[in-house]
Amino acid sequence: MPKKSRLKAILGARCPRCRQGKMFVYPFSTVQKFSDMHAHCPTCELRFEVEPGFFIGAMYVSYAMSLMIFAAVSAAVYLLFKNPDFYYYMIAIPLMVLILFPFMYRYSRVLFLHGFGGISYEGNERSSPLKL
Ligand SMILES: [Zn+2]
Repeated sequence: MPKKSRLKAILGARCPRCRQGKMFVYPFSTVQKFSDMHAHCPTCELRFEVEPGFFIGAMYVSYAMSLMIFAAVSAAVYLLFKNPDFYYYMIAIPLMVLILFPFMYRYSRVLFLHGFGGISYEGNERSSPLKL
């Protein structure tokens, strides 16, 4: 099997070790269950929550995403409505954050696990599927 890039693994919300197994149980289209996550990688059995409370750190990534959304929506409202009242921003920004919440929830966890999980790619080099 060809080596899968880290970027593809992140975009596809895949395991950082094998880059094959999905981190989340349901696809994005299942909005009601967007937060359901596998405890272990379905392919290589890696435990995704590498230590208790690991994903609390994903809040920092989510916060950074929220700031980016804040800046982008503010700029869009400013340009589209040509410097409108304060209330336009007060409606548009929380609405956009609410709409993008499932995206932020998932990708903050994916980015945090890939960036700070301390897990390196092992591809097909692994011999035992039970190695944790
Ligand atoms: Zn895996």
